[in-house]
Amino acid sequence: MPELPEVETVRLGLQPAMEGFRIERATANRGDLRFPFQADFVARLNGQTITGLGRRAKYLLADLSSGDVLLMHLGMSGSFRVVTEAGAATPGEFHHPRSEDRTHDHVVFEMSSGARVIFNDPRRFGFMKIFPRAAIDDEPHLKGLGPEPLGNAFDAAMLAQACAGKSTSLKAALLDQRVVAGLGNIYVCEALFRAHLSPKRKASTLANRKGEPTDHAVRLTEAIREVLGEAIKAGGSSLRDHRQTSGELGYFQHSFKVYDREGEPCPSCGGTVQRFVQNGRSTFWCPKCQK
Ligand SMILES: [Zn+2]
Repeated sequence: MPELPEVETVRLGLQPAMEGFRIERATANRGDLRFPFQADFVARLNGQTITGLGRRAKYLLADLSSGDVLLMHLGMSGSFRVVTEAGAATPGEFHHPRSEDRTHDHVVFEMSSGARVIFNDPRRFGFMKIFPRAAIDDEPHLKGLGPEPLGNAFDAAMLAQACAGKSTSLKAALLDQRVVAGLGNIYVCEALFRAHLSPKRKASTLANRKGEPTDHAVRLTEAIREVLGEAIKAGGSSLRDHRQTSGELGYFQHSFKVYDREGEPCPSCGGTVQRFVQNGRSTFWCPKCQK
């Protein structure tokens, strides 16, 4: 499942092909992805210029000259392929190898930039939806999302406030998109490791009795920003060097400190990285230095 840095990498990879350009022709090759396409889906895209390509949590948001917004979600296995005369690139692929099977090419945007942007999604958990920008506050997929972890609104005080009184684990709290938006299993594991906090710790310990942030909250906020920032930076460099989008290098994978490293030495204390199942997901951590 793509997390925030991967979606941001995809956004950065799509921007040069889509932003400021007109959709000359949009094609949906089937009637649905996770949800059916709206009946007027293609009609509302054709001829529109994409005035801005943004992101909220794990959603891509393309603003159209008509005043509509095209919301796009990668789901579990979705990817975009940008085909130009110079070749093809699959931004974000370095996080997860992507499908090459053309039978899963479900949506095609032929852009006035000359690029063809193709959405491929074998498992079809991804989706696209169009709604008026003016109605964005009513959009169910965006409603109730917590702050962007890299935005100015996200800080220790806000995180502490969201976690105060919560008896759930820190891990579960950080996965809750209402607490902070866009984090998934990988970066929650990495952020907790970097902050030296146990994933089992109660979320409420981020706040003191007055609801103010504890040192833990300060440390965790910084750790979240750092792991996401570094991942986006790594994604950005992969875009500059197309050879690294082959997916085979998986070089970012190597920079995970605990995720998917069960049994390996802890890079911080020399202990051993362990795995256990928490809320149905694998948690990777070092019990020796995460308290
Ligand atoms: Zn350790």
